[in-house]
Amino acid sequence: MLCVNTPAKVNLFLNIRGPREDGYHDLCMIMQAITLFDTLSVWPNMENKQQLTLTCDHPALMQEDLADNLVAKAYELFFKWTELPKLGLTVHLEKKIPVRAGLGGGSSDAAAMLQVLNELTCANLSYEELRQMATHLGSDVPFFLTGGTALAKGRGEQLEPVYLPELSLSLAIIKPREIDVSTVAAYKSYRQQGHYEIRSPEKLLHALGNARIATEIEAFLWNDFESVLFEAYPALARYVAQMQTLGISRPLMAGSGPTLVGLIEETPENRRILAEYFPDSDFEVFWACTHPAGMMPVVPVM
Ligand code: C5P
Repeated sequence: MLCVNTPAKVNLFLNIRGPREDGYHDLCMIMQAITLFDTLSVWPNMENKQQLTLTCDHPALMQEDLADNLVAKAYELFFKWTELPKLGLTVHLEKKIPVRAGLGGGSSDAAAMLQVLNELTCANLSYEELRQMATHLGSDVPFFLTGGTALAKGRGEQLEPVYLPELSLSLAIIKPREIDVSTVAAYKSYRQQGHYEIRSPEKLLHALGNARIATEIEAFLWNDFESVLFEAYPALARYVAQMQTLGISRPLMAGSGPTLVGLIEETPENRRILAEYFPDSDFEVFWACTHPAGMMPVVPVM
């Protein structure tokens, strides 16, 4: 059995620069992997030759057709692309990253599946080939092949790794249970407001490279989706205000929302206060740190 942990991401900077002819938008983002992981377990399945049997522990995903899951799409695409005979596999997906939350969970699972297949089939595809394949699965999928910190442009698939060996930020991640935002709808709302402004990520990159203090970084965090989504979901603006009263000066929306992220130390006191303000009945709350890599093999406990 092969078992890997697949990280979530947050966009520390997300600037929508304009619509493209292919229906997507040109972006400039700083993407950051974080230590909130799904787990993908993969077994050979001799009985079910040349097929994937996919299971998942997430109730909402179990109700959907798992053939539409990005992990199944990654499996199909890998064998179509490489023209290798399909391997019979059983894959179980343990979801910890909230779905439709702007945290890239599905994209991360798909990138891990491509990498696992590259290893299992000994196809030995280069990073560039995997990146092209990943782009077909979704704009965020290529980022997860390397994870860590990256500057992303184009649709999000043109990546430049940012080497920040000392970056270690503690993050509180708050997903309101009653709000799900589809990425397509978020881009559509942004397009409808019809205004694009080009912003530079340079100040944030500089702060990430130098700053040891969260406040120096917070000043330059940015997400263009915030303006449209706070208007569409006024509750989100209230949650932001609540986070600010807890000392998080710049709560940030993750990707296309609705998850909110705050730079705050994980202390027993902060955990207690956050749990009180954002109770489990209405919110999923996670604590994580910046993660310097992508998927991680799970080492079995002896
Ligand atoms: O690439 P992905 O399948 O994740 O994108 C989902 C949707 O998000 C696209 O169909 C498009 O509507 C929107 N999108 C966009 N511009 C991007 C990335 C995504 O408009 N750069």
